[in-house]
Amino acid sequence: MYDILLRGGSVADGTGAPLFRADVGVIGNKIAAIGDLSGQAAKLTLDADGLVVAPGFIDAHSHSDTSFLTDSSGASKLYQGITTEITGNCGDSPFPCAGDGKDLSACVSFERFLARFREGGYSMAVNQALLVGHGTLRRCVLGDEGRAPTEAETEKMRFLLSRELAFGAWGLSLGLEYAPGCFAGQRELNLLGETVKRSGGIVTCHMRSEGLEIEKALEELIEIGRFSGVRVNVSHLKIDNYRVHGRAPEVWRIIEEAQKSGVSISADMYPYTASCTDLSIRCPKWSLDGGAEALLNHLAGPRRSEVVAGIREHYFNAERAETCLICDDGGFWPAIVGKTLCFVAEELCHSDDYAEVAARILERTRAQARCIFFVMSPDDMLWFLRRDVGIGSDGYALPADIAKLSSRPHPRSFGAISEFLRLAREEGICPLEEAVRRVTSKPASLFGLSGRGTLKTGSVADVTVFDPSTVAPRATYLNPIQTSRGVQHVLINGEPALLNGTQTEKRAGTFLRQGR
Ligand SMILES: [Zn+2]
Repeated sequence: MYDILLRGGSVADGTGAPLFRADVGVIGNKIAAIGDLSGQAAKLTLDADGLVVAPGFIDAHSHSDTSFLTDSSGASKLYQGITTEITGNCGDSPFPCAGDGKDLSACVSFERFLARFREGGYSMAVNQALLVGHGTLRRCVLGDEGRAPTEAETEKMRFLLSRELAFGAWGLSLGLEYAPGCFAGQRELNLLGETVKRSGGIVTCHMRSEGLEIEKALEELIEIGRFSGVRVNVSHLKIDNYRVHGRAPEVWRIIEEAQKSGVSISADMYPYTASCTDLSIRCPKWSLDGGAEALLNHLAGPRRSEVVAGIREHYFNAERAETCLICDDGGFWPAIVGKTLCFVAEELCHSDDYAEVAARILERTRAQARCIFFVMSPDDMLWFLRRDVGIGSDGYALPADIAKLSSRPHPRSFGAISEFLRLAREEGICPLEEAVRRVTSKPASLFGLSGRGTLKTGSVADVTVFDPSTVAPRATYLNPIQTSRGVQHVLINGEPALLNGTQTEKRAGTFLRQGR
């Protein structure tokens, strides 16, 4: 007697092997049998005729870390068939932080974080595998100071990092384009890479530059792998400056050369031509020495014009202002959400000095404004997508209820994986079995998620059943809060999380721990 029986589907087992017709039986949280199970009984039988039965999809790069605090549904991810998210990315994680550890979003340790999650009665729909954010780790030891750590401080960082890895974090994420990560030099990164290598895990990296200096930034990451032997991964691979569009093959060649020389390097990306990040990322780095508070002080003080000049130089001339869509005001200026910087400047501020208006937006939103930047070329994006890269949304687990969200998030939260499957089908990126491999066994082996990512007897029953001919996102830039279509059933840890295209009441997601 099975708990759940998926009948009559075509199995894509996650390895890239050709589809085969089989029933899949689940007992408890494990796959109990795959084959002809006709005549067998089950407590719950689901029809998978005409559908593909695959391992649950793994979002290789997500920021859902504490999304459960406001919403347990994770509908944006679940409706895409995502059963596990890699979180704690781009240098930012909920731990380790200085203080009393009572605040879940700035917790003293992974251990305390998990205890607080349980004690607080929280739940979430989708599994998470958390990385330790380097920015968070650095801030815990050095605050927001823009300098190199002393020997003692480096040792403290290594101690805290190894403690979190021993407890089950999956590696270290770097956010070298953000403060305070941007203040780290090669030596600091190499030594932390060594700690990760020793404890098991991966170093993922939001690189220092994804545009004019992308080659140099890539070399910096490769050097961490070369020095320490740790596996390194380029987060959200892209070329985000129009002056270097078309260089995808050159950038990829650097990655391949490093692989040939023995460095274990990989990459993930999202299938969109717009990025989404803090508006403050366009400010000169010196103005962020001391964090958002320091930036706001500079904007209110004698160096304001230098900050504005820095923003202008870094990014905004008239042409680029059209490509900046404000998606989040931090609750401070609702009128600008969903408007371009150009529109805000001309219609709301009656100015054509876009850098100055960007500064005003930063001031009024307490530096919390986030923007969608249309900065990539479709050719580069598709070229990278045809290589062996993982797929990561760079988004959040969000509810499908538009009333619960004041921001207008990048559509990748609701659509990254399903857009990849659509592109695989409609742009001929790769065959279906290969597309499934890229969102299942590939990220599972990259991050070391044993027991997940392939559909075989004995593996964890994270299962996604979808219609390969219709799976696609509905989310758009202007209407991003819409669930994807085409995913029919999802099991998470053996529990039915989505049945017949509708989310159930189950919240079976857990925090996965390395080595457990
Ligand atoms: Zn990032």
